[in-house]
Formats: sequence, structure tokens, C-alpha cells
Amino acid sequence: MARTKIIIFIAPPGAGKGSISQECVQKLGWEQLSTGNLCREHIAKGTEIGQKIDFAIKSGKLISDSLIVDMVRKWFADKNTDNAVLLDGFPRTVPQALAFKEMIENDFPDVDVQIIQLKVDDGELMRRLTSRLTCSNKKCQNVYSLLPESGMLPNEERTCEKCGSALMQRADDTVETVKDRLSNYYHHEHDLLDYYSSAHFPIITVDANKPFDEVYSGFKDVIGL
Ligand code: AMP
Repeated sequence: MARTKIIIFIAPPGAGKGSISQECVQKLGWEQLSTGNLCREHIAKGTEIGQKIDFAIKSGKLISDSLIVDMVRKWFADKNTDNAVLLDGFPRTVPQALAFKEMIENDFPDVDVQIIQLKVDDGELMRRLTSRLTCSNKKCQNVYSLLPESGMLPNEERTCEKCGSALMQRADDTVETVKDRLSNYYHHEHDLLDYYSSAHFPIITVDANKPFDEVYSGFKDVIGL
């Protein structure tokens, strides 16, 4: 099937890929595939996969490549959409990138793939993640921030604007777990950048240290919107 566009982010947790994706879903009608959201949905439903991955998610460790690749494969098969898709949190390792390359070559050979790297300082990532609130409804998981400059402040009741559910802090958005998530992330980012560069995939960089509106407009510029 011909698919217009797939955006891959190379971006640490807290860099804004989820917020950019949310904005593109709301404003442009694109699709967001967040592997983190899929994992949390499995845990909330208590599926066999959910029970296997619960501990790893809460402690900020990565889930096995094969489980994640299967989830992604299933998501594309179930959605069966021609819309542009933003990959939020996938591929996160070189084996995932290789599996995804094969999936694209077999299933969507005409797709336009763009790789966007979001760069943010660690101190800023920590500030954003520990100030983040997420909708507790696992079908929604809309994201808010307690940082005034974010433009994503929650209402006074701290309920979700989209579905009305209570907002909560994710179990892995605490200082200690964020430190582990960032160090895991950089380990794999280094290998992914090496892989994309040796495979001659162009990577476009966006400075994401800024307030969200500016990051979103930088993102739109580089992808030609
Ligand atoms: P995120 O919502 O993207 O911050 O992801 C939350 C957690 O889900 C991560 O810390 C991992 O435990 C798991 N996860 C999400 N995406 C992946 C992935 N592509 N590979 C491995 N684990 C993942």
C-alpha cells in the first residue's frame, strides 16, 4: 500500500516528540504510533505481554526488540491507514531500525521516510519530565506540563481536556528513573546514529531546547510544512 510519510524521531525522553506528535494528530489528522503508550496499554489491560513488561517499564529499562517489533507490526496491520505516521519512541535500537527498514521495504516501498533528531540539554530534559502529567486513561495518555512556558498547563482540577480522566505522574517520570532512562537512551542513540550514517540516511536536526511553540514551528519547517 502507498503511504505518504513516516517520521522517525531520534530524541531522548522529554525532547518533545510526543507533544509534536499530539499536535500533528490534532491539527493535521496524522497518526501517532507511541510504543510507550502501547506498552502501558498492555499493562493496564493485564495482558500476558503487559505482565511480562510491567517491571521493566516502571524501572526505565527497554523492552525486548522482538516484543516491540511485533507490536509495531500489529499496529500498522490494524490501522491500515494512508495517513502520515509519526513514530514516537521507535526504533530505539539498531535491531529495531533494521527490522523496521525491512518492514518498510516489504510493506510500504513508496513511503517517504524522514528522520528528525531533536536536541535538548539533559538538565532541561529532567526539568520537563519531572514536571510532566499524563492522562491516566490508557486509551488517551494525553500529555500536560506544570511548566508555565510549556503552553500545556493542565486545568485546575487536573483532568484531561480530551477525555476528562484524572491526570497523573508516570511511574518512570521520577528523578532516579529519568536518570536511568537517559543513560540507556544515549547508549542506544550513539549506535543508531552510527547505523543511520553508515546506511546513508539523511538526518535533520532541530534545536528542541526552546519553548514548545518554537520547537513545533522548527519541526514544521524542516519537514516542509
Ligand atoms: P516512552 O513512553 O517512549 O518514554 O517509553 C516508556 C517505556 O516503554 C520505555 O522506558 C521502555 O521501557 C518502553 N519502550 C517504549 N518504546 C520502546 C522501544 N522502542 N524499545 C524498547 N522499549 C520501549
